[in-house]
Order: sequence, then structure tokens, then C-alpha cells
Amino acid sequence: MERTLSIIKPDGVNRGLIGGVIKRLESSSLKILAMKMIWMTKPQAEGFYAVHKERPFFDSLTDFMTSGPVVVMVLEGENAIEKYRKLMGATDYKEAEEGTIRRDFATDIEKNVVHGSDSPESAAFEMGYFFNSFEIVG
Ligand code: ATP
Ligand code: MG
Repeated sequence: MERTLSIIKPDGVNRGLIGGVIKRLESSSLKILAMKMIWMTKPQAEGFYAVHKERPFFDSLTDFMTSGPVVVMVLEGENAIEKYRKLMGATDYKEAEEGTIRRDFATDIEKNVVHGSDSPESAAFEMGYFFNSFEIVG
């Protein structure tokens, strides 16, 4: 069993896609162990995306991620990290496979509706960034 962090980004919340994303999660073998809505400050978003600090899109990305509320979730399942990244599709929605969340809902390489951890190390950091152990069920 593995755990991963999922975020429905501000564009997803703003466009009424919370239910659509959760429906896909509940139709998959992934289980939701924790969920809450938050509105990040710029320093909180910068801390979350610290690995991307040197990237040219860092400032724009952290502005976007603080432009409205997001829904953060902990998901669990076999190969949860890879499984959820498959459900999300490629970062650039134009390259994402048919039937993926980003292919079906995203409008932009930055405003791509969802986030998912990319390794066990980043999943551990990201889950701990938003949740304490009492908030994760199971
Ligand atoms: P995420 O980490 O959000 O799950 P990812 O792992 O597919 O997405 P990363 O390379 O980690 O992609 O980039 C983090 C986020 O930064 C992307 O989801 C997207 O919102 C934004 N981003 C990535 N590449 C670009 C780019 N070339 N231009 C603008 N924004 C970008
Ligand atoms: Mg990433």
C-alpha cells in the first residue's frame, strides 16, 4: 500500500470540478483517507513548490496556486503515486491521454486542475505539509 497527495487546484475548484475529480477517484481503486479545503498564502505555496524554486514558472505557479481555494487529499492504494498520476495525465493537457483528468478538464499547462506527488519522498513531504496524523483516516 502506498499513499499520495492530491490537490484540486484553484482552476478546478473555481470551475466546479471538485465533484468530477472526486467521482473519478471513487471510481478508481484509490481510497480517500483525508480531505480539506484551504486557501494558501504565497509563502505556503512557495514552501510547497520549493523543488521548483529555480524554474521560470515558479512565480506564476505560486501566484496561481494562491488565487483561490484548493482541495487537498491523501489517497491510498497499491502503487497509488503512479496510479493517480495516470488518472491525472501528462502535465501538459495537450499531451495527456484520452480519458485523463487533465485531458478532459485542463485548459492550460499551468492551470491543469490537479496535482499529484511524483515519488514516495515527495508524497511524504507533501502529506506532512498539509495534514497531521490525526487528520488521516486509517
Ligand atoms: P504537479 O506537480 O502539479 O502534479 P506535474 O508533476 O505534472 O504537476 P511539474 O513539473 O511538477 O508537473 O510542475 C508543477 C506544476 O507547474 C504543473 O502542474 C503546472 O501547473 C506548472 N508547470 C509545469 N510546467 C510548466 C510550464 N512549462 N509552464 C507553466 N507552468 C508549468
Ligand atoms: Mg510535480
